[in-house]
Amino acid sequence: MRGKLVLGLLIALTSVAVADEKGAERAFERAKRTEPELIAFLKRVPKGGDLHNHASGAYYTDGMLDAAIQQGLFFDPATSRFGTDSTKVPAKNLLTNNALLYQFLNAASMRGWTGEAQSGHDHFFETFGIFGGALNAVPEEEFFAEVIGRAKRQNLQYMELMAGPSPSDALNEYFKDTPSSADMARALDILRPRLEKLLTATTKNLDEREKLAARIGQRSFTSADEPMTVRWVYSINRLASADSFFANAAAGIFLAAREPRVCAMNMVAPEDHPLSRQNFESQMRMIDFLWRNLGKPNLTLHGGELTTAISPPDAMRDRIRKTIEIGHAKRIGHGVSIAWEDDLDGLFDEMRKLGIAVEICLTSNASILGVSGDRHPLRLYRANGIPVFLNTDDEGVSRSTMTLEWVRAVRDQGMTYRDLKEMARNSIEYSFLPGRSLYEGRNYAQLAGPFQGARAPGWKQTAEAEQMLRASEKMRVQLRLERAFVAFESKYP
Ligand SMILES: [Zn+2]
Repeated sequence: MRGKLVLGLLIALTSVAVADEKGAERAFERAKRTEPELIAFLKRVPKGGDLHNHASGAYYTDGMLDAAIQQGLFFDPATSRFGTDSTKVPAKNLLTNNALLYQFLNAASMRGWTGEAQSGHDHFFETFGIFGGALNAVPEEEFFAEVIGRAKRQNLQYMELMAGPSPSDALNEYFKDTPSSADMARALDILRPRLEKLLTATTKNLDEREKLAARIGQRSFTSADEPMTVRWVYSINRLASADSFFANAAAGIFLAAREPRVCAMNMVAPEDHPLSRQNFESQMRMIDFLWRNLGKPNLTLHGGELTTAISPPDAMRDRIRKTIEIGHAKRIGHGVSIAWEDDLDGLFDEMRKLGIAVEICLTSNASILGVSGDRHPLRLYRANGIPVFLNTDDEGVSRSTMTLEWVRAVRDQGMTYRDLKEMARNSIEYSFLPGRSLYEGRNYAQLAGPFQGARAPGWKQTAEAEQMLRASEKMRVQLRLERAFVAFESKYP
């Protein structure tokens, strides 16, 4: 009885002391009226993580042009690319030649894409072949400062960035005389000593990269104690030859298992390409073999970035299921074609049991696949209890930002303020940060013991809380997100 009284009193105290979500909710409802009001409101809301971000696609072409001018590159009007051939047009001439200026900016991003001459899918994927020369001119510290700094300024706490963690000379060395993948065990034996060398070079490279964090006012990119915490994702190309794919997957899986700052491997390139479709099963078997033999690290894989406009329906019957069952993906990138999967209820059951989350990329899906509004499966996932969260995919190419992904989730998908908060929490809960969660049983209403008052403005950390935080990087970032919500919402009494 006495216990019950104490408990009742505690609950009463807690509910009084918790920051008032309702004030922020009301402000959100008012802001929904127009897009600028919604942008102004949402850009300040704490957003959690961006876990699906191809760093090269995140850099705006405008900055690439600045770098091409600074580095004295030349523009080839026939290919829309920048290079060092001095018989072509000096980069600075584009500033006084609007035709060439817009030719580059439009060819290298979705800027100016009207959908009349070319599909969004084709235009999007062509940009990557075009902007490479100009992007290479961007100094590394500039590149990371823009991509990571932009997320930090929009109140994100965390990123898993697909930015190659290994230096190119070490990769060239690693890929010399790639062994035949016909005998996977033998190929892996040959690669093992090279993997150790690649790891050493990668660790050194990432140590160097940490120093660039000074540009965003941090001591490190990857520390869980800085306002923005980053992890690197190793990407492999699904259009590569079998031997090269195998060696690259071995590198990605090995590094993800051994270098804590490399949190996962992903695979990139258009999933609808005939080679992606033809090689899908053999690539999944390679990943399965390597994953079992190299320490079973976390994997997040693009799966189901498909529609019938670009893929035969049969290819969509088990793409997501096999990416999970054979490819060991803990998260699925896009998952747009989910409705076409065989035994969909069974698949949802399995995803719930395994805790598989889906990385939703609304702007990307709208421009590449033409999927938006009620053609998008975001609500299908939510209705079936599958954790989802918002990501930018390629914000530079798409001319978007994380804030605009949130705007789209509200205006195009009808998400509420509470839905958005839930997705922000999902993005850290289903991140690959190590350590135990701040929440009990993935229930966000239930904070772990010493954190039960952590949603109150005046909460003070106890010694017990501090000890738990020291043991879990995930918990540190989750607590940072919760405290950011408190600070944000306390402005809306
Ligand atoms: Zn992607």
